[in-house]
Amino acid sequence: MSQEVRVRFAPSPTGPFHIGGARSALFNYLVAKHTGGTFVVRVEDTDQKRSTRESEENIKNALKWLGINWDEGIDVGGPNGPYRQMERLDLYKKYTEQLLAEGKAYYCFCTTEELEAEKQEQLAKGETPVYSGKCRDLPKETVQQYLKEGRPYVIRVATPKDQTIAIDDLVRGHVEFDSNKVGDFVIVKSDGIPVYNYCVVMDDALMHITHVIRAEEHLSNTPRQVVLYHALGFPVPQFAHVSLILGKDKKKMSKRHGATSVQQYKDMGYLPDAIVNFLALLGWTPDSDQEIFSREELIQQFTLDRVAKNPAVFDIEKLNWINFHYMKQLDADQLYAVCLPHLQKAGYASETPAETEMQWLKDMCWAMREHVQYGAQIVDAAKIFFADDFKPENEETAAVLKEETAPAVLKMFSEELAALDAVTADTVQPLFKKIQKGLKVKGKFVYMPIRVAVTGVMHGPDLNVIVALMGRHKVQERLQQSGLI
Ligand code: GLU
Repeated sequence: MSQEVRVRFAPSPTGPFHIGGARSALFNYLVAKHTGGTFVVRVEDTDQKRSTRESEENIKNALKWLGINWDEGIDVGGPNGPYRQMERLDLYKKYTEQLLAEGKAYYCFCTTEELEAEKQEQLAKGETPVYSGKCRDLPKETVQQYLKEGRPYVIRVATPKDQTIAIDDLVRGHVEFDSNKVGDFVIVKSDGIPVYNYCVVMDDALMHITHVIRAEEHLSNTPRQVVLYHALGFPVPQFAHVSLILGKDKKKMSKRHGATSVQQYKDMGYLPDAIVNFLALLGWTPDSDQEIFSREELIQQFTLDRVAKNPAVFDIEKLNWINFHYMKQLDADQLYAVCLPHLQKAGYASETPAETEMQWLKDMCWAMREHVQYGAQIVDAAKIFFADDFKPENEETAAVLKEETAPAVLKMFSEELAALDAVTADTVQPLFKKIQKGLKVKGKFVYMPIRVAVTGVMHGPDLNVIVALMGRHKVQERLQQSGLI
């Protein structure tokens, strides 16, 4: 790559920011960083009905949250702006006039009914519907006349006939299209707004984009865009169409598969570095079996020639595993910050916890860190401290309290606990040994009934830590509740 690499992400701000969009943004970002190039972010908002500023803000915030920062484009500016399509209409107009003047585009006055009839006729013959080109050779005078009459029109590109449109896609390889199947498509709608396939070409060319890296679903748009590059006399960039993201059932990833937007993952308490790591592996195959990549490693190693042609499968367990890895790198304050909103939502923490509560919450989160793969899971883990109406979670758990020695164990523990000056993880720990010795029972028969009586479950952090966090009063209460003492 001798020329400076310039890549771009061009979202349509029409709804939640899909995880697939984030992956496209990331791949562009990584290519730019890897090559020392420039990453541009611009907005494709010509679909006025569906585009909102709110959605644009969400996308920008999500990109920033993921640390996918751009060098040029919306908000940051640059020499090729404006970076919102609706602010570039005058620019587009200039090119449309040029195409019309050169006979590379033409006015089409066909009515919806005419077009529909034409389409039905083609379908009846088993042909792929393509515009017949009826208005392509309208005499100049007729065009002028119709314009004067104020007839509604669209503008179509005059696509060269009988040609093969070929692209050498950096992911998909050599792909060919028949220009006759592309036909003379609309480039400016009757409301005067140019369509995506047209704007995107002018934007990419005028912003000197060298590599168009985007989702596979845009591959079918590419022949139209190539026709327009040629018509406008712009150099055609390199294309790289990245495979679809599928759910585990190998069907296109959708809401049925769970959360699909970046915001949902953020709300569930996933970490941005983990998401970036996970997204990078959705299609990119490193040359080793390494799975955890720091951002620097991704930048260093990411190249398009290792982006796979076959679809990527979104495996939530893998995301959880990766996220867990990053969660374990957090210190107590950071872990607390990730968990707090979830505890608040569950009613387990005040809106603004005072010092003592904050310290307790921090200690609790820290104690639970082996059980929390992503933020929202803290709620389940913390339940043992808050939900008082619990029962042993299943029969196996209930059976623990039916052990013959359980009542004596709980009784002795209760007495020993009452006798402690202070209940801390360190003061509680020796009690278990003491009970073992005193009652001559194995460790398991000490730890398990106490754990089940106090928490209702058989797993969790060290029992002395739980007891200390729960506090003397509540532990005693639960020992009583067991009905065994
Ligand atoms: N605006 C398009 C989208 O959000 C992107 C088009 C492109 O990258 O060329 O899917």
